Amino acid sequence: MSAAGVEGWNFATRQVHAGVEPEGTHHPRATPVYLTAGFVFDDFDQASARFAGTDDGHAYTRVSNPTHAALERRIAALEGGSGATFLGSGQAAVSTALLALAATGDHIVAASSLYEGSRELLRENFARLGIDVTFVARTRDLEAWEAAITPRTKALFAETIPNPKNDLLDIAGVADIAHRAGVPLVVDNTLASPYLLRPIEHGADIVVHSASKFLSGHGTVLGGLVVDGGSFEWARDPARYPHLAVERGIDGRTLLERAGQGAYLEYVRTLAMRFGPAASPLNAFLILQGIETLSLRVQRQSDSALALARWLERQPEVESVDYSGLDSSPHRDLARRYLPRGQGSVFGFTVRGGRPAAEATVNSLELFTRMTHLGDVRSLVLHPGSTTHVLRTEDDRLASGIDPGLLRLSIGVEDPEDLIRDLAQALAVGRAAMVQAAGTR
Ligand SMILES: *Cc1c(COP(=O)(O)O)cnc(C)c1O
Repeated sequence: MSAAGVEGWNFATRQVHAGVEPEGTHHPRATPVYLTAGFVFDDFDQASARFAGTDDGHAYTRVSNPTHAALERRIAALEGGSGATFLGSGQAAVSTALLALAATGDHIVAASSLYEGSRELLRENFARLGIDVTFVARTRDLEAWEAAITPRTKALFAETIPNPKNDLLDIAGVADIAHRAGVPLVVDNTLASPYLLRPIEHGADIVVHSASKFLSGHGTVLGGLVVDGGSFEWARDPARYPHLAVERGIDGRTLLERAGQGAYLEYVRTLAMRFGPAASPLNAFLILQGIETLSLRVQRQSDSALALARWLERQPEVESVDYSGLDSSPHRDLARRYLPRGQGSVFGFTVRGGRPAAEATVNSLELFTRMTHLGDVRSLVLHPGSTTHVLRTEDDRLASGIDPGLLRLSIGVEDPEDLIRDLAQALAVGRAAMVQAAGTR
C-alpha cells in the first residue's frame, strides 16, 4: 500500500499499513529486512541508469534501501509530509536537515530550549563552520523570533515539546513569521511523535525525529528521520537557496527544475550520501515495528504522565512540576491548542532541598531506570543539572530553569500505581536527606 493510498485511513490504521509494499516472490506480510550493502544490476544499461537516476531501483544501501524506503513512506504518511529520509541517528537528522539549508556565512535562528546535543551542535560545531546561530530564549515572544531574522537567515529551528521544561512552541505563530521572511520552519517533533502532534498541519515546513525514542519505542536502536512537508516555496527567493534554485548540474538544470518540490529532500539525500551518516536496514525494520504500536504506547504513556504530574504536584517534597497538561503550567493554552490528545510523557519536576534531596531521590528509585534516554516502554529518571546540562554554567542553568533539585522523568507503559509507589518511597528518602543536610549546615 503506497503512502498515497492510505490517505483515507485514520492514524492507528496508517501506523500499521502505510508504506508496506508486498515485494518479491514470497509476499511476506511483515516488511523484509534487506540486510545487504548493494543490489544486483541486471545488465550494463541498468547499472548506468541507476547511477543516472533514470531507473528508480536501489544500488547501494548508503544511498537507498527498500527497508529504509518502507519506513520513509510510513513516517511521511503519519506526519502528512511529501517524503522522508532515514538516517543513522536523530543527531544525523538534525545536522543534515539544517546543513541542507545553511552554509558558511549563513545564519539560523533557534529556540534556546533545544535538546542539549542539538544546542551544542549549533553553538559550537556550526559556529566553527561559519554558520551563526541566534538563540531565542523567550520562545513565546513572537517579536523576538522576528527581530532575530537577518537577510542571511536560512532556517528557524525549534522543538515542539522541549524538555525538561515543556515550554511548548507556538508552531503556527513562528511558522507565520518564518514564511513572511521567506524562510522555512524546521521542528524537532521527537517528544510529541506524530500521534500527538503533526507540525506540518500547523505550518511547519520540515520535521525531524530521533526515531531512537518513541518511534522505536523499546530503547533498542538509533535512527533519525527528516520529513519534508512539501509546500515551502523554494523558488520565491532563488538567491536565498542557490544550491536548490540557481546552481546548475551537469544536465544544465537546477535541482528545483529536476526534482520540483522534492528538491530539498533530494539535497538532504545527497548530503547523507556524501557525509555518510547511514542507518542499518535492521534498525529501519525495528523502527517500523515500533511504529505499529505507537498510538497505543504514546496514549498510555501520556495518560500516565498526566496522572503522575498531578500526583507529584500535591506532594510536600515537590516544589514545582513542569508539565503542560497541568492547569498550573504557563503553557497550558498552547497544550490545549496543539496537544489535545495528550501532552507527552517527558517532563521535569523540582524537589525541595536542592541537589542533596535530588541525589537521594534518584538513588532510591527502584522501578525507574537511571538512564539518559526517553520514549522507552520503561520509565526513566535523570538529573539534568549533573548530566545533560553539565556543560552549561550554573548561571546559564538557572536562567533556563535547570534548578539543582530538578529531575527529568520519561514515563513508560508500566502500571502508573506502581510508578507512584516508587516515587513516594524515593521522595521520602529525599526529604530525609534534605532534613539532614539542613541540620549539618
Ligand atoms: C534524543 C534526541 C535527539 C538526538 O537523537 P539521537 O537519536 O540520540 O541521535 C534529538 N532531538 C531530541 C529532542 C532528542 O530527544
